[in-house]
Amino acid sequence: NLFAKLGLSEDVLKAIDLMGFEEPSQIQTQAIPVILEGNDVIGQAQTGTGKTLAYSAPVISLMEHGPHQVQALILVPTRELAIQVNDELVRINRFTHFTSIPVYGGQPIDRQIRALQKGVDIVVATPGRILDHIRRGTVDFSHVRFFVLDESDEMLNMGFIDDIQAVLDTLPAERQSLLFSATMPMQIRKLAQQHMKPDVKNIV
Ligand code: AMP
Repeated sequence: NLFAKLGLSEDVLKAIDLMGFEEPSQIQTQAIPVILEGNDVIGQAQTGTGKTLAYSAPVISLMEHGPHQVQALILVPTRELAIQVNDELVRINRFTHFTSIPVYGGQPIDRQIRALQKGVDIVVATPGRILDHIRRGTVDFSHVRFFVLDESDEMLNMGFIDDIQAVLDTLPAERQSLLFSATMPMQIRKLAQQHMKPDVKNIV
């Protein structure tokens, strides 16, 4: 399996093998080692290129075992994508003990609050609903070390910029940030400049 050369954890590699993937896609080959080194990354990638695995496999490989606290926050534009990304996380986490949940608008908030209270390692959320949880104090992001903004241009098109800024303002400064987008309009470059490390690595 050609994924073995990239430096991922044993448990993640085993899961990828079981998923039937034998060869990393271009974005995976480029992004995985750079993320594993601890860099902030801006990746230009369309959907269907394997970008979900490109960020989740290295992030999960870097995560630490311990009490279930939110270590990684992934923001996505829609509930469909939240569910889809979470499904992929569940498969990648088959041999780790990490848990994840999708959190999106339109779902009863009480159920989400109970799920969050049980303790979870990864949250995949839409911006509006997760901001609601932050304001209610029903989610604890004080242990977040990884932040992913997926389909960033879609998020801007849907008017989520203020919500994203508000979420980012509540996250620990000491974190690794990964931003993915099909296109790179000025607003996204600005967002990256404001919230990511100055030596952020660009991947096209
Ligand atoms: P994404 O671009 O993340 O939405 O992924 C598109 C689809 O490709 C998903 O169904 C993934 O499970 C699948 N996929 C991701 N990486 C690989 C790979 N290296 N080989 C084959 N399929 C993959």
